[in-house]
Amino acid sequence: MSSHIYVDIHAHLHEYDYGFIASLFETYPNLIVVAVSDDLESSKKTLELAQHFPSHIIPCLGLHPWEVGKVDNPLEEAKKIVELAIDAKVVCLGEVGLDTKFVGHTIELQRRVFNIFLEAARDYNLFLNLHTAGTWEEVYRLLYRYDIEYANFHWYTGPISLLPQLRESNYTISINPAIRIQQKHRQIVSVADLDMMLTESDSPYDYRGLKLKPSDVIDVVEEIAGIKGLDRDSVASELINNLRRRLKPLAFLIS
Ligand SMILES: [Zn+2]
Repeated sequence: MSSHIYVDIHAHLHEYDYGFIASLFETYPNLIVVAVSDDLESSKKTLELAQHFPSHIIPCLGLHPWEVGKVDNPLEEAKKIVELAIDAKVVCLGEVGLDTKFVGHTIELQRRVFNIFLEAARDYNLFLNLHTAGTWEEVYRLLYRYDIEYANFHWYTGPISLLPQLRESNYTISINPAIRIQQKHRQIVSVADLDMMLTESDSPYDYRGLKLKPSDVIDVVEEIAGIKGLDRDSVASELINNLRRRLKPLAFLIS
């Protein structure tokens, strides 16, 4: 591994055991993981992990759209997660957003929950780590309405026509290791500007046999460089600059 810093902007580290995470950062000392959460319990675990590995983990707390229909009282749970985030002075909420593709039956409830996170992001200037499957435009309109400054659209496979607006608003899209086999994602990389991209793993998700892991972001840089016809070192530094330039609440870790 070269001396570049690599960032996984979206991983579910709370699903791993402590030993895996410790050896991950031993093997990849230049890896920074922005760790998302799924619910209140995993938000607490993410916070603990970030306290153990302060130079490697930036915690994001949130209620995943897929969990909204599963927890007892999602609105209460979302409010507790926001309180925890404010108390712990975290800079990021995630994984939050809306999903009509996989869990459309809970969309009304998802919207009410997402409003809680949007208000918190606006009031406390927090970064949003977004899940937007099937709801790309709706989420973009909400970010605009709430005047949200920092947001990343994770594993972007949305409309190409929306990319210029996202870029103009200074939002980013993150590129997943699925780029190896997912044509739509490759197409996004070929048309999107490099200056709006970040890398992610969404680990430990298993995508069509790809067992995603945080260190995959190193290969993602390689893949982006290949598609764009650029050398990997310049892509790696440009991606870090994207984080420095746009995502100021996270910049302290990569200064
Ligand atoms: Zn995720």
